[in-house]
Amino acid sequence: MDLRRAALDRARLLSTRYDDIVPVNALREGFRFEGEQVSFGSFFSGIFRPKQCRGPAALSIVTAPPKHARDAPYDDGFDARTERFVYHYRTAKTDTADARLAAARDNAALSAAGRLAVPLIHFHGVAPGQYSPLAPVFVTRDDPDKRVVELEAALPVADTSDEGLVSPPDIRRYATRQAVVRLHQHQFRRTVLRAYRSRCAVCSLREAVLLEAAHITEDGAALGHAVVSNGISLCAIHHLAYDRNLLGIAPDGVVHIAHRLLNEIDGPMLRVGLQGFHGAALDQPRRADERPDPERLDERFERFRQAA
Ligand SMILES: [Zn+2]
Repeated sequence: MDLRRAALDRARLLSTRYDDIVPVNALREGFRFEGEQVSFGSFFSGIFRPKQCRGPAALSIVTAPPKHARDAPYDDGFDARTERFVYHYRTAKTDTADARLAAARDNAALSAAGRLAVPLIHFHGVAPGQYSPLAPVFVTRDDPDKRVVELEAALPVADTSDEGLVSPPDIRRYATRQAVVRLHQHQFRRTVLRAYRSRCAVCSLREAVLLEAAHITEDGAALGHAVVSNGISLCAIHHLAYDRNLLGIAPDGVVHIAHRLLNEIDGPMLRVGLQGFHGAALDQPRRADERPDPERLDERFERFRQAA
């Protein structure tokens, strides 16, 4: 359990340090245990059990990042019906005895994690070379016939003590939902920023760390897929102004600044950064299906007008 705890602690520390999206190079360094550097895995093969592990259970699993930016990586990763993550057994990469043996060994380690109820780290690929670590997760159902396991997120402290998995099902369901919402937010930001070529749709700022994916209307289905047409890439100031109804976007894509701000006199941020964009056209994605949904814009613009 100690090696496992060291791994879980390190994964969570990296998650905090990198704001939940950890570059693979940082993960490749692994973690320290009893003066030794231990690997988190190769990030290619899926299921990993380091040789330093005492028991038969896997330590970590990986869900590969999407091949195309438009794909959602968790299509195969979350079952909205059971509200659990789904993870498929490995299949041999080649039709050789060695490959089959390696896959069987990995799958046995995954099943053992379920049988022994030990915590795992699930690295979710968000983008090429970027992973969001989820720790701890537990295999709470194993279906060898379908060659699939179900996983639930759990509590970082209580569920990784020697007592084992102690949290009740509703707590785990909540933790799992939170994890899915977070993964969806990462994916939403990524797809929206890509659609807008990493620019603010109002001021064209191209500094990615200052850009955010704004929702036009509330994302009703928190566990469903956030669609690009409900998003707009905005810099932090224009995002906040949009959320606070100080900046509106009409269904025809024209930017409106609230009267209250138009009548104020202040420095360049107000004059250039806000008033200057009154009447400007929103810079929209090239692809028609990625442009803001006019109905959502209309619904939202109505609220802006009422607030003004
Ligand atoms: Zn902006």
